Amino acid sequence: MKTILVCVAGITPQIITETLYYYIIEKKPPIWIDEINVLTTSAGKEVIINSLLKKESAIFYKFLSDYNISRQKIKFNENSVIQLGGDSYIKDISTDIDSAIIGNEIVNFIKNLTIDKNTRIICSIAGGRKTMSVYLSLGLQLYGREQDILSHTLVSSDFESTQDFFYVPPVPKNIEIKDKNGKIIKIINTKDAKIVCSEIIFVRLRNFLNIKDELFYDDLVNIVQKKVDYCGTKLISIDLKNRALLLGNKKVILKPIEICIYNLFLSNKKKCEQEFCGDCTDCYMSLNEMRSQELYANLLEFYKFIYTENSGQYERLKESLKKDGKGDDFFSQNISKINKTLKQHLNPFEFAVYKISKIGKYNKRYGIYVDKKNILS
Ligand SMILES: [Zn+2]
Repeated sequence: MKTILVCVAGITPQIITETLYYYIIEKKPPIWIDEINVLTTSAGKEVIINSLLKKESAIFYKFLSDYNISRQKIKFNENSVIQLGGDSYIKDISTDIDSAIIGNEIVNFIKNLTIDKNTRIICSIAGGRKTMSVYLSLGLQLYGREQDILSHTLVSSDFESTQDFFYVPPVPKNIEIKDKNGKIIKIINTKDAKIVCSEIIFVRLRNFLNIKDELFYDDLVNIVQKKVDYCGTKLISIDLKNRALLLGNKKVILKPIEICIYNLFLSNKKKCEQEFCGDCTDCYMSLNEMRSQELYANLLEFYKFIYTENSGQYERLKESLKKDGKGDDFFSQNISKINKTLKQHLNPFEFAVYKISKIGKYNKRYGIYVDKKNILS
């Protein structure tokens, strides 16, 4: 699996090499970084390239040779330093609009990186403007996968404040700390430097989104929020034996055949192939689809929970289904009765969710507006 380090950075390129050093040298066991991408502003881009990549003596090459790593092993070049803001040429993030443009761009960048299943991304929030770190984290929250990591780099304070420290070199060296006038006030040695990346756990919301959608950050958040709210409250379970439908905190008793039919719709939802099937209607059924031997067999299975196999009721249902004499009316009439009972027991909002809904003008299809993860039984 290819690991990509994504850093946000301003005019402190140190954070990039410090994070790289931590993951491939310091961490036990190490995580190899195959590629680095840096998101920055126009001012940052210049500083980062000049300091890390421009000349043969640049810090990134020095790091590689210090640790005997060949240049082909880590993909990091001038093209890896991405200037945010595109055509808007944002030198720094100082307005609300800058913030929105850049935020959207960062979230999109993360989304695109997560399309390839064979990658892991490590997002380092240590550098850059706070706006950038926040959006990097939120982007990962929206699109991050199980293997992705959100990371913050912590450096011991003396070393954090000097511009001459980029990583812990294999051979220790002194660094002079100077005041504003250039006078040496302290000498520190790199053997005392500590770099740690603290990994932050986060909620993964990816399953609530369609990766193909091209949406702005605000819209993404609205969609996910609606879905999360919906999932949290609309739990549904069925107690067939007692003919009880448990909807949120309400209990509705249905007639034996009705509860079995309702259960048919729930079990169909559970089989839906959509990751999030709350508002999906792919798993709805037409009356024609309902009149199948497979569905009849399921219906009889459910019926057995209420009446035993030897009972007259069970035999009668079995016989009538065999003859296929049930017709469209059997389902449509029972659906109306179920909905009528639900309407009596539920408030209008609950009814809208739990009723057996009908979609389509001509070939009408029926189903329940609930996500399969919310079906408890
Ligand atoms: Zn579905």
